[in-house]
Amino acid sequence: MKKLICLWSLILITCTAMAQTQIIAHRGFHATQNSAHNSLSALQHAQDFGAYGSECDVNETSDGVLVVAHGAYHGDYIIQKTDFQTLRNVKLKNGEILPTLDEYLQQATKNTATKLIIEIKDHNTPQREARVVKNILKAVKKYKLQKDVEYIAFRQNVCDELLKQGPKGIKVAYLNGNLTPEYCHALGYTGIDYNIGVMKKHPEWVKECHDLGLTVNVWTVNKTEDMKWCVDHNVDYITTDNPEETARVIANK
Ligand code: MG
Repeated sequence: MKKLICLWSLILITCTAMAQTQIIAHRGFHATQNSAHNSLSALQHAQDFGAYGSECDVNETSDGVLVVAHGAYHGDYIIQKTDFQTLRNVKLKNGEILPTLDEYLQQATKNTATKLIIEIKDHNTPQREARVVKNILKAVKKYKLQKDVEYIAFRQNVCDELLKQGPKGIKVAYLNGNLTPEYCHALGYTGIDYNIGVMKKHPEWVKECHDLGLTVNVWTVNKTEDMKWCVDHNVDYITTDNPEETARVIANK
């Protein structure tokens, strides 16, 4: 009987934990003093804050280096058409270096309580996207972060390559907002990660996702009323530039 009660408590705790909306810091927790989008300090601040996840954007340079930057431009340069050293010479707004994915993963290993949510940007050919996926998976494996990284992408080809090349249990959420939960599920995606405007037009998608076992992430939620909407609709993850306000909204539910 005692065992049963223990088991039930565990199930309850797990369910409660799952039901609670969690915070993903969009491009890291950059809204802190002297930080910048997609900087190493933004990842560290998200870790210190205790966010569920810290999102970042990954692009490949012309000479095949994976860098963390939103793109398409870094300074005056188109990231995917410029060599790494040229890009590296241009500092971020706060004076930090442009981080490589490798440096970002090193920082991720320092506190794996915060997951790294890697957005893989569109690249100009399906072959290049397959290579980018391959090299990202390889780097994540090198740092033994397979369980601490989740992936998001706008392009179906990137999501499909992740599923094809990635390890069993890989988490892949689709960003583009134009596919139903059922369709995403059929493709093998593990979640949707849609714009707040899309989700407000399709609030029924939250339940549809949950019934299918998909997660629901919403971006980029910066207005308090939208944060409330997400919490009220049992969204799993809020991706935001303002983790502190999101935490207040979740706490006041
Ligand atoms: Mg992004």
